[in-house]
Amino acid sequence: MIKFLPLGGADDIGASSFYLNISGTGILLDCGIHPRKKGLDSLPKFELLKDLPLDYVFISHAHQDHIGSLPFLIQRIPHVIIFSTPQTKEIAELTLHNAANILANSLNEENGFRIYTHDEIDLLVRSICTMEYEEIFSLKGLRHFSPSPINITFYDAGHILGAAAILIEHNEQKILYTGDINLSNQTIMTGADLSKVKKIDTLILESTYAGTDSVKLGTWQSEQKRFTWEANQILRNGGAILIPVFALGKTQELLASIHLLMKKGALTETNIYTGGIGKEISSLYDRNRYLVRRKNIELELREIAQNNLFEIEDYNYFKKNPGIVLASSGMMFEGTTSFRLLDFWLRQESFGIFGVGYMDSETPGYKIMNSKRGDVVQLTEFRSPQKINCHVKRFYFPSHSKREELIKIVAITSPKRVVIVHGENQSHDWLGLQILTSYKKIKLYSAQVGNQINLNID
Ligand SMILES: [Zn+2]
Ligand SMILES: [Zn+2]
Repeated sequence: MIKFLPLGGADDIGASSFYLNISGTGILLDCGIHPRKKGLDSLPKFELLKDLPLDYVFISHAHQDHIGSLPFLIQRIPHVIIFSTPQTKEIAELTLHNAANILANSLNEENGFRIYTHDEIDLLVRSICTMEYEEIFSLKGLRHFSPSPINITFYDAGHILGAAAILIEHNEQKILYTGDINLSNQTIMTGADLSKVKKIDTLILESTYAGTDSVKLGTWQSEQKRFTWEANQILRNGGAILIPVFALGKTQELLASIHLLMKKGALTETNIYTGGIGKEISSLYDRNRYLVRRKNIELELREIAQNNLFEIEDYNYFKKNPGIVLASSGMMFEGTTSFRLLDFWLRQESFGIFGVGYMDSETPGYKIMNSKRGDVVQLTEFRSPQKINCHVKRFYFPSHSKREELIKIVAITSPKRVVIVHGENQSHDWLGLQILTSYKKIKLYSAQVGNQINLNID
């Protein structure tokens, strides 16, 4: 008996969490928080777990939309056993403490939503069990009623450091949860390797970019070319460039790209500004560089000359000392560094803002990226409209599979059934239609929070 129940992150991106019941053993795949929502609303629907056994949590990677609600789950169900790759555990220690500070500053507690302490995080992180890529782990929950155990294997998902696709095997049945997956190389990460994953019964497939035309997304190489050209225009005119980035993944990839582009003389030599948690995560990328598959293995991020963004109090400094500023958050949420810089940037005619990754609709970053120089934008509900005087350029530098690669994952793993998750409606629609057209025998499900799917083989 195998049942699948999405608690969050099914038909949108945020609060990814999927419950599996396999012969009485309860497993949660990911435990994310919604980056745009607040309080209880931002958590997966944990109330759906009421009366269901839960023994294990497997975390695919350390982005907040996959791990951010883990402390809230542990408040409710303290006995669960958590597994991740060693790299995800290391990153989680940094990012969960950082998230605790942000939550404490921005949120009020409500019934059923108590902000966790740093002590709770210390205990939680210490309790995470680690599993290397391609190491098989057998488990049985307290109420497991089948003689055969469940086997779990992590495969490198190529998305960020430590990211895993998770293979779950039980009684000849194979389920693959992709987590966030990227088949293409970035500057540091090598694309996912699924060559050892064959003949899957159920594929639980992310769909972030399924709704986006791949020509628009470009490739890492074509984006670098376009980025170099646009950046050179601004830098030659004495302008500075603000790049809102996720602290985890995109910061390290962009830093490496910018450094290598400058080294080969394509990109104008300029100051690079970084700081905060992004810099701490960069040192984990350095420390793990011989332990995981990666490109540019000799490149150490700490050896790239960087100025500390947090030492600059008066932003007029950037007029005299222009450069490229890598600041989180990637979607420019109010209260974060990239948002604080935004106010000043919007007033500077020679400056530029470069978007480089996924942006949720309604976020300040999304609003900026869907406007152009000269437009007037209202960034948040309570702010007055502001004119955009600086240049605005949109890039993607994809760290998720493009739509054709998602179809390739279906081809490689030849599943009997596909459950689409982690994407907006248009992504579910595009991917669903392609799969139904090309693979007539595949049973297709578009995951919805609270809708249970029976994964038994007929
Ligand atoms: Zn991710
Ligand atoms: Zn994600």
